[in-house]
Amino acid sequence: CRDRNYHAAAEHPARITELFAQWQAKQREGRGLRERGNLLRRQLANPGTSRDDADEDAAGFRSMSRDQLLEEGRKVKAGLADIEEAESSLTAEMHRLALAIPNLTSDLTPRGAEPTVLSYINDHPEPGPAPSDRVWRSHVHIGTELGILDFAGAAQTSGWGWYHLLDEAAQLEQALINYALTAATRAGWRQASPPSMVYSHIAAACGFQPRDTHGETQIYAIAQSSDDAARGKREHCLAGTAEIPLAGMKADTILDESDLPLKRVAASRCYRAEAGARGADTKGLYRVHEFTKVELFAWTPPDADATQDLFDEMIDLQTELLGSLGLHCRVLEMPTADLGASATRKCDIEAFFPSRRDRNEGWGEVTSASVCTDYQTRRLATRVKMAAGGKTAFPWTVNGTALAVPRVLAAILENGWDEGEKTVVIPEVLRPWMDGREKIGPRH
Ligand code: AMP
Repeated sequence: CRDRNYHAAAEHPARITELFAQWQAKQREGRGLRERGNLLRRQLANPGTSRDDADEDAAGFRSMSRDQLLEEGRKVKAGLADIEEAESSLTAEMHRLALAIPNLTSDLTPRGAEPTVLSYINDHPEPGPAPSDRVWRSHVHIGTELGILDFAGAAQTSGWGWYHLLDEAAQLEQALINYALTAATRAGWRQASPPSMVYSHIAAACGFQPRDTHGETQIYAIAQSSDDAARGKREHCLAGTAEIPLAGMKADTILDESDLPLKRVAASRCYRAEAGARGADTKGLYRVHEFTKVELFAWTPPDADATQDLFDEMIDLQTELLGSLGLHCRVLEMPTADLGASATRKCDIEAFFPSRRDRNEGWGEVTSASVCTDYQTRRLATRVKMAAGGKTAFPWTVNGTALAVPRVLAAILENGWDEGEKTVVIPEVLRPWMDGREKIGPRH
């Protein structure tokens, strides 16, 4: 917990142990009271019998009148109700604390805040931070100059952090989605189109807390009317990623081992509160509140090798997609401080953004892939019936970005910009979805 900056949750295991001891004491107390109730009932049913029963003597019932016995019975009943209430509030508190504990961390994950660079995709256009004579522009400048990005109009309707994609930018969004979906389905990922609203408890089980105690709230909870709350209707939130409805779809379900790995790909709108976001990232498309993402999600057998194979397959697909778009990227093994709650291990791919050259040599995250072991399935009660022995186990889950539109679109605009011609090169693989066009030029 401490390595992962979950400092509050680091206290939870000890607290859960204490609460568990209290819960066990309540269980014992309950058993004692239930026994007392049984003895009472027996005494009431057979008042005249004089059995040599030490228990009943000890309970002191034999010297009691019927009225006293009935009164004692009422006390036992009330005591049991109190115990059950205490048990259920202890259980709820244990669950609340347990839900906030992150997954265990893989040995492959570097401890601390520094990632390890695993590999590069296409070469960095200007190794090191040295200035080049090429004129680099930000996608905000390019998109505004070409009239294909509109932030001011979106600020009127929705505020800052929203955007309109126009003309070729809107077409590029669809092209990117279609390109990624086609590549993924060809690679055996079965397509899904999931809902954008999910129950908050499903999001929480996947490791996304609508009211996060760790860091900033990233999820928009849907306000409930007081009527709905009174009727016990369950709260919804907007899905921050298709991972949530995809994982949640198998809640309380038993899968068959022969169906694993079960691979899904889905394009969905993603909603992020980005409560803590400030500074340069908040300009343009880099950090927005709503975007389209093509997501890969799989259930794997609870086995490190099988899951590793699937994870490698996911990174290969991400590498193929970003590489074929001509983007300069690097693959990173992410450190503990960067892992979300559910991941045991996470690899990000960063692309080169000319507009970000003043920090981090221009690198900016474009995809992420995580192995979640049984963190999500345990919380969602997704099980798998194993072929050997027929026992059930918790399958593991793996999730990763196939393609998140806004950052890739920004990278295409910035890397493909020609300052002299005022054009952007459309990556060749996207041209079939762009009427075969090679460039986006100024509108006359
Ligand atoms: P995550 O689901 O947070 O691991 O993010 C997956 C990918 O979605 C990231 O690598 C980004 O490309 C993209 N992404 C995440 N958050 C945002 C955001 N607020 N705005 C734009 N893109 C985002």
